[in-house]
Amino acid sequence: MSEMNTDQYRVKAEPFYRPVGNEVELYNAAYARRLPMMLKGPTGCGKSRFVEYMAWKLGRPLITVACNEDMTASDLVGRFLLDKDGTKWQDGPLTTAARIGAICYLDEVVEARQDTTVVIHPLTDHRRTLPLDKKGELIEAHPDFQLVISYNPGYQSLMKDLKQSTKQRFGALNFDYPQAETEADIVAREAGVESEIAVKLVQIAQRARNLKGHGLDEGISTRLLVYAGNMIAEGVEPMAACMMTLVTPLTDDPDMYETLEAAVQTFF
Ligand code: ADP
Repeated sequence: MSEMNTDQYRVKAEPFYRPVGNEVELYNAAYARRLPMMLKGPTGCGKSRFVEYMAWKLGRPLITVACNEDMTASDLVGRFLLDKDGTKWQDGPLTTAARIGAICYLDEVVEARQDTTVVIHPLTDHRRTLPLDKKGELIEAHPDFQLVISYNPGYQSLMKDLKQSTKQRFGALNFDYPQAETEADIVAREAGVESEIAVKLVQIAQRARNLKGHGLDEGISTRLLVYAGNMIAEGVEPMAACMMTLVTPLTDDPDMYETLEAAVQTFF
């Protein structure tokens, strides 16, 4: 097998990550023992950024897979491809990560079907192996390999939940939107807006977050606040910037739209 270019999976520059609790210490300890980890929390609250930061800090390559319901086990593990010389095996991202000792981050793993999710099982217990059934090869994971999944319990339904047999293979950290002051710092820094603006954006988000379960499936995420900040930094008038990033993406319901619009108007 030709030398794999692992450099492409390196996190090159330090990602900006503002710790919100003791998650960095806990993750360090989990990585030291190669514990598979589950990051739980709503969309856009910093889970992916945290993994990037930890991969950088630990000096490990990072391979991220966005999971979806059409994903098959082969999409993770690999498959035979046809080329001019016949068939050729191509490793999937999970296999590559296990071979090179990367951190493999399966984002929104609950989206994947259960018959896809089970392929991670042998990698998450003492075996640390990955069987490539179609190829007839059993891979032993590189000592530095670690599996991390993200999971949004808000989307949980009877149809879409992780099986206990999957859940109970992971240590888990809870993530949520940061405290107001911290979140405003993050938005100011990420978007390059004045803290006065960032504070207002966070206040809007806090109002919207109270509507979760009362007509909104999810509150305004930190990610959307960063978008709003970016638009304002780009010179877009704040009201228009907020409608475009905090209101319109969030709801299709005219009443909810008005409610959110009113919340924005209170601040801008
Ligand atoms: P998730 O993976 O939870 O859906 P992300 O990690 O992509 O969310 O976070 C969305 C954005 O929010 C990031 O791109 C970053 O700008 C910002 N963000 C959220 N939390 C933090 C944090 N603690 N430190 C730095 N940036 C953060």
